[in-house]
Amino acid sequence: MKAIYKKETVKDPESENNTYFNFTLKRDSEFCCEKFKNFCKKFTAWSYDQGKFSIVDQITYEGHSTQSIDFCPFCGEKIEYEDENGSQKIRKKKVKTF
Ligand SMILES: [Zn+2]
Repeated sequence: MKAIYKKETVKDPESENNTYFNFTLKRDSEFCCEKFKNFCKKFTAWSYDQGKFSIVDQITYEGHSTQSIDFCPFCGEKIEYEDENGSQKIRKKKVKTF
């Protein structure tokens, strides 16, 4: 599947000179299977600070730790992470001139 994200630079509210990246999953991402699509609807599987899908790895007394994933946990298809700006260069616009 293809996960298309938008990368934004956000100013750190706690420190004036610091910025961090915020990744937003685009709606035109192509999901590999319905199971994973539904999973993402139910749970917040997208990690905004990593720009990757992440699933709960371990549940501890303090909370839980997450693990970023490169493969779909349901069908096993590889997840390709793509910057929306980067993808524009690769995609050739189909323009019919005649
Ligand atoms: Zn899948």
